[in-house]
Amino acid sequence: MTTIRLLLGDQLNIQHSWFTEVDETTIYVLMEVRQETDYVLHHAQKILAIFAAMRDMARQLKILGHRVHYFKIDDPNNLHAIPANLDALIVQYQADAVEYLAPDEWRLDQQLYQHGRQSAIPWRMVDSEHFYTHRHEAADVFTGRKQWLMEYFYRQMRVQHQILMDDKKPVGDQWNFDHDNRKAWKGIPTEPVDIRTRHDHTELWQTIVNAKVASFGNPQADTFAWAVNREEALQQLEGFIEHALPHFGDFQDAMHTKAWRLFHSLLSFALNVKMLTPHEVVKRAEDAYRAGHVPLAAAEGFIRQILGWREYIRGVYWANMPEYAEKNFFQHRRELPQWFWTGKTKMNCLSHAITQSLEQAHAHHIQRLMVIGNFSLLAGIDPAAVHRWYLGVYIDAFEWVELPNTLGMSQFADGGLLATKPYVSSAAYIDKMSDYCKSCHYDKKSRIGDNACPFNALYWDFFERNKSVLAKNPRIGMAYRQLEKMDAKAMADFQMQAQKTLNNLNAL
Ligand SMILES: Cc1cc2nc3c(=O)[nH]c(=O)nc-3n(C[C@H](O)[C@H](O)[C@H](O)COP(=O)(O)OP(=O)(O)OC[C@H]3O[C@@H](n4cnc5c(N)ncnc54)[C@H](O)[C@@H]3O)c2cc1C
Ligand code: SF4
Repeated sequence: MTTIRLLLGDQLNIQHSWFTEVDETTIYVLMEVRQETDYVLHHAQKILAIFAAMRDMARQLKILGHRVHYFKIDDPNNLHAIPANLDALIVQYQADAVEYLAPDEWRLDQQLYQHGRQSAIPWRMVDSEHFYTHRHEAADVFTGRKQWLMEYFYRQMRVQHQILMDDKKPVGDQWNFDHDNRKAWKGIPTEPVDIRTRHDHTELWQTIVNAKVASFGNPQADTFAWAVNREEALQQLEGFIEHALPHFGDFQDAMHTKAWRLFHSLLSFALNVKMLTPHEVVKRAEDAYRAGHVPLAAAEGFIRQILGWREYIRGVYWANMPEYAEKNFFQHRRELPQWFWTGKTKMNCLSHAITQSLEQAHAHHIQRLMVIGNFSLLAGIDPAAVHRWYLGVYIDAFEWVELPNTLGMSQFADGGLLATKPYVSSAAYIDKMSDYCKSCHYDKKSRIGDNACPFNALYWDFFERNKSVLAKNPRIGMAYRQLEKMDAKAMADFQMQAQKTLNNLNAL
């Protein structure tokens, strides 16, 4: 009896119950395949991080005594498709069964399920033992409800898992401290030192290049900074709790030209490839609060992202795929401007957020939502193109979490299932939360003319052109009340300015 057990590149949980016993008749399989490198154009660091972490996982499994079959990207026997490689291994090892951990992506879930059905031997799917919720739990919570309010789901999770609770009441008698979490950062407290372990992955990078895997962005292969195993991820978690979490709440939405990490954890990659569990990260934050090390608003704000948003987003994904990927509520069709691939735009906010994304494979939430996403929505970029860019560029981008965030939250392409209103702003919000406008080519206050900040006219044009579908939304009543007060000449000027901008996106 031989069983083949597949581990995908985002299933690197060395604590999974699969590994508690060593069994000679079980072969663990990991594979670096073109199927996965090529389904979208990925950032170089994303490919490097996943391959390096997979190789490290294979190393750890071997140390524990497990049998491992590893397909490297340049292995001549690698057929570069997951089902084809598995079929070859079934023959090679005369396997009697295939087992795989529940994929988080609909694409892979379908592929393995369909292929398994046609196989002569049984294929079984096993729980990945990672999330708080099962795939359809959010859908169960929202049965019969039109709007999927995250806050409603989050409170249920708090009660169910007894997190930041004093029996039936939320700690501090308040569920959500979001209002306390909106400060701009002026340089103090200083940004904590980046304690991530550096690796030299030059050789692996050369292998990837030689295999002609296409990518973009800076690989930073000789000083590679993303955690490639649980040990490094735990060190990163401890550093975050100690130095950054105390200020996380206050500066969660802040952006600055001199501090790209600010007080964020940079743990999304380690979480999404399952080197860390959400339970241990949440527990560590709650313990730090209970020990008096961090304020409640900081612990709550951080825990809400993981126990609330992360699980909720996953629920939205599973309840709505595969149709979700095609949503385009506003019927936006424009192409991405060229500078998405270079960062070379005169708009300082976009230049910083995009250049940082190309350099670090990371941007934090507000850069993704209120700078890059905001501009894309105002400019009417095709949400599918925006989705592909986000899925490629970020180190933590796996479709189950990236797609609802990009298409739903940021582009409102689902018509408001996930976000109660479109997340758009003029320059005023970006100026309030960052220092970007201070050194920008464009004038944040001007609305018309060559030097006017493009966000300003695009903002009013967006509301005007979408009046028929947005005006009734009570959460954006204020924008429409302001529009009503605007005289016809002012509106015509805005529309002309916006049209000029839209006709010249590549030149901004
Ligand atoms: C348009 C857009 C696209 C995004 N794409 C992704 C993506 O591909 N992968 C991804 O993991 N996150 C995505 N996010 C959510 C968020 O931006 C990242 O999780 C976060 O920036 C990662 O950095 P961090 O680990 O320092 O997070 P922190 O700010 O330290 O937050 C802690 C953790 O909370 C979780 N989290 C926070 N916000 C969200 C959210 N909205 N949805 C799910 N989890 C969340 C992450 O696991 C994160 O590591 C996206 C957000 C937007 C607006
Ligand atoms: S002025 Fe406008 S384009 Fe420039 S940084 Fe501010 S918001 Fe961005």
